[in-house]
This record gives sequence, C-alpha cells and structure tokens, in this order.
Amino acid sequence: MIYQKTKNDIDHIRKAGRILARALNRTLQEVKPGITTRQLDFIAEEWIRGEGGLPTFKGIYGDPSRGIPPFPGTLCISVNEEVVHGIPGIRVLQEGDIISLDCGVTIKANGRQYVADSAVTVGVGTISDEDTYLLELTDTSLAKGIEQTRIGNRLYDIGAAIEAHIKPSGYGIVREYFGHGVGYQLHEDPMVPNFGRAGTGPRLKNGWVLALEPMVNLGDDAVHTLDDAWTVVTSDGARSAHFEHTVAITEDGPEILTRRDLPEVQV
Ligand code: MG
Ligand code: MG
Repeated sequence: MIYQKTKNDIDHIRKAGRILARALNRTLQEVKPGITTRQLDFIAEEWIRGEGGLPTFKGIYGDPSRGIPPFPGTLCISVNEEVVHGIPGIRVLQEGDIISLDCGVTIKANGRQYVADSAVTVGVGTISDEDTYLLELTDTSLAKGIEQTRIGNRLYDIGAAIEAHIKPSGYGIVREYFGHGVGYQLHEDPMVPNFGRAGTGPRLKNGWVLALEPMVNLGDDAVHTLDDAWTVVTSDGARSAHFEHTVAITEDGPEILTRRDLPEVQV
C-alpha cells in the first residue's frame, strides 16, 4: 500500500531530512585521504544524535537464520567498485577514491516515526575526469527523475527519465536495487526502478513521498553481494556512483526534503 502523507507528516519528514542534510554536510567536510570509513560513520552518528535524530540504518534488518547480521553503521559507505550497503570499518580512504555516503534519519513525533533517506557520492582529493563525469551524470540523472515526480505523472516516468539520461554514456544502470516509498518507514511501497517505460505505472498522487536513488556503474550493470552479506559491488570491478534524495509530491510540484544546499543545512 502506498501512503499519502499529510502536510503535517511532510513537515516532520522534512525535519528529519534537514538533520540528515546537515549530518552529510558535516561528514563530507572530513572526507579526505587518511581517514577511515568508521571515523566518518562516527561523525555522522554523533551529529544526528546531537540534533535529536536517530540513525535509521543502525541495527536494521538482518536475518540471523541466514547468517546476515543487522546493519551495524549509521552510514552505508561504498568506495569505488562498491555500489551500495558498504559497512563502515577500518578501510582508509586514498587519494583518487570515490565514496558514497548513504544515510537515514528517523525522528519521533505524534506517536509515530518519520524517516528520510539520502545519499551522495564524492571524490577523495583529486579524482579522474572519468570519475568526475560519472558523478555528474548520476547526480543529474537524479534531477531528471525528480522533475518527473509530479501529480498526474506515471510512476515509471521517473525511471524512464533517469534511464534516458544515462543511456547515451553506455554506463550500467543497476537494475537489482531501486528507489522506494519512504516516510513512516525506511522502505515502503512503491518500488521506484531507475529504468522503465514512460507513460506506464500508477499515477503519482499528492502526498506520496519517494526516495529516488540512481546507481550507475562505469562498466555494465551486473552486481553481486560480498561475503559480509551487505556490501554490493560491481561484478566487473568498475566504479559506481549513487545519489539519492527523499522527495515529496505536492500540489506545487516535487519538494526535495533532503537538500544539502539550503542555508539552514550548512554546518
Ligand atoms: Mg539511502
Ligand atoms: Mg533508499
């Protein structure tokens, strides 16, 4: 079922989104050669808790019967050929790496919880022209998807716009992981693929809140999960980028609830 959030709900999701945006902005200041991914995770967790939020990802999911531990971090940190769901740890960032920081923030209000979800990929120090292009292309594909996130459009208009933007590059669009509804829970209906046929799928409604999150590989689209049961990597070892925003569908058009460029989220 797809929930239509009220204006009041969206106000709370925006509040979670602002905490998240500030936490990412703060953490991004420390992305440099020599720091470990665990140190970055610690910075993000401290920031979120300091602002009265909860790190949504910490302790989530997992299936002990299949040997899958709950996710241990505040951030999913995915470096280079890691696509999503990388676990923060002792890895030391190197000049020229690219790193995706994916974060969820939960706040409690009105006797329920409100969740925002957002990710950004950046370079560590100086990166190659090809990596720079990959990051720009993936980020702009997210913007193309957001443009389609409007009342009356169809759900797969979003993925069609993302796919059309990436396709000329020949890069791989990850097909096994999707955007999703978000707001009361981290993952809600509907699934929002990063590909699709324009003019198909359910009509988008006022009050839907969607996390759009294109994942784009320099090589082909094949991915698999490492033995840690979480980290998703490209099967050909090529680098991958990931950008994500939580977007509310309103009568005034799409509102990005996790913007990092507003004055009030600068740190
Ligand atoms: Mg995310
Ligand atoms: Mg997400």
